[in-house]
Amino acid sequence: SFSEQVREAIVASDARPVQLGNPLEQLGLAQTDAGSATTALVRELDRLAEEAAARATRWLVVAVCCLLAGVALGVAAAERARRRVRSGLDLAVESLSREIDQVGEARPSPVVLRGFPELAWLSEKMRRRNRHLEEVVSSLRRQATWNEQSRRLSEALELADSERACLVVIERALAVVGDGRPTQLLLAERGSATLRSVASNPSAPPPACPVESTTACVAIRRGQVSVFDSSESINACPKLVGRESGPCSAVCVPVTVAGRPVGVVHMTDLDEAPPGVDVIDRVVDLATRIGTRLTALRTLESSRQEASTDGLTGLPNRRALEAHVAELLDQDTPFVMVLADLDKFKLLNDNYGHETGDKALQLFAGVLRDNVRGNDVVARLGGEEFVLVYPNMSVEISLEAIDRVRAALARSLEATALPRFTCSFGIAHSSAGRDGDAVLRLADAGLLRAKDDGSDQAVVADADLAATIFSDDAPVR
Ligand code: GH3
Ligand code: MG
Ligand code: MG
Repeated sequence: SFSEQVREAIVASDARPVQLGNPLEQLGLAQTDAGSATTALVRELDRLAEEAAARATRWLVVAVCCLLAGVALGVAAAERARRRVRSGLDLAVESLSREIDQVGEARPSPVVLRGFPELAWLSEKMRRRNRHLEEVVSSLRRQATWNEQSRRLSEALELADSERACLVVIERALAVVGDGRPTQLLLAERGSATLRSVASNPSAPPPACPVESTTACVAIRRGQVSVFDSSESINACPKLVGRESGPCSAVCVPVTVAGRPVGVVHMTDLDEAPPGVDVIDRVVDLATRIGTRLTALRTLESSRQEASTDGLTGLPNRRALEAHVAELLDQDTPFVMVLADLDKFKLLNDNYGHETGDKALQLFAGVLRDNVRGNDVVARLGGEEFVLVYPNMSVEISLEAIDRVRAALARSLEATALPRFTCSFGIAHSSAGRDGDAVLRLADAGLLRAKDDGSDQAVVADADLAATIFSDDAPVR
């Protein structure tokens, strides 16, 4: 330590008094007092050292206190600033949330966020987004409702076992598909190009499209959805112009049956405001379902007809005839049955060829078809044999009808290059037989008698004649 160093210096001064002389003198001490003086000096120096140490300690404490105070002040200031920012943000968020709530509740509210232009901008953006979302939601809701309706429609169409039954279902669908807009279905019958309005939305006046044939309909011709913004527009469908209901917009969706566009769902709306995409999508969906069901029904009907139609003449075949007769018997409807057989037809075939024979058969079928009325039935039994069924007719009247057929055949042959041929007829009344087969057997007896008597004539048969004709001793033909 310092005092020790001084002490060592004083001890050393014994050897070198000169060196120590001067400081002692300065202190006013005699060399002899060196011991006590040294002690006093050491004490003084110790005191001075202690004082300096104490002062240094004090300053150190003060400095540390100042530092701590500074840090505390800094932390407090930072906390105050944080709170200020926080409360400002809270206010802004609260205002924004209020604004969003108001937008959500669709209350008209000018954006009042004074001092927060960014938030006002954000709020406006959110308002727009909100509106867009509302539109999306309501469109999805409508779509979901339609999907459910469309599923039910599909089921209802499947349950409908005829075109007529389908139209009842379609009419109900037309009422919903366009949210009440005037809507109709125009359709051509199988094998026809004539368009007819077959169903329309009952809750609105029908759009009354005057188009008459599939070839005159733009949408059917194009085979695709056609939207017309205004009937006044230069490129509008000509069928839209001059309607009683005034200018309008329209959407026309073709209905495709068995791969061919044969109908159209036609919907009108306000001029310059055609139905939106979601409505058009629903109409397309409806038209597709209608087409699918009609395809199934018409295909079924075709194969049914094919199975019951004679390919050469287009007349009902034996199977269809049997069904007709069974129906009449079920209903207890009396009828006259006529069996017709071309005379010497084998000879005609042999002389003029099978092709000419076919033409003769077709001509005869046409003559029969042209000489019967609504409820009468004409069928080709097979070969050169035909059957006529006249419901609710007496045998006498049927003889007159057959005379007309024979005269018509002669006239028709005169107008063609075909060789002349005649026909024989056997006639029987339904009351003379138990069932269809029995009546036909009677008619056959009459036919055999007609042939026996020289052909080209009609013979009425009864049970007695049949008994004679089909008896064991009857002459074999
Ligand atoms: P009949 O006056 O006694 O009735 O004599 P027919 O020659 O008319 O009667 P037959 O039963 O001997 O001959 C019927 C002929 O009809 C035999 C057959 O060649 C002909 N025929 C049957 N079906 C067809 C057909 O689809 N096309 C043609 N071209 N001929 C047919
Ligand atoms: Mg025959
Ligand atoms: Mg014959």
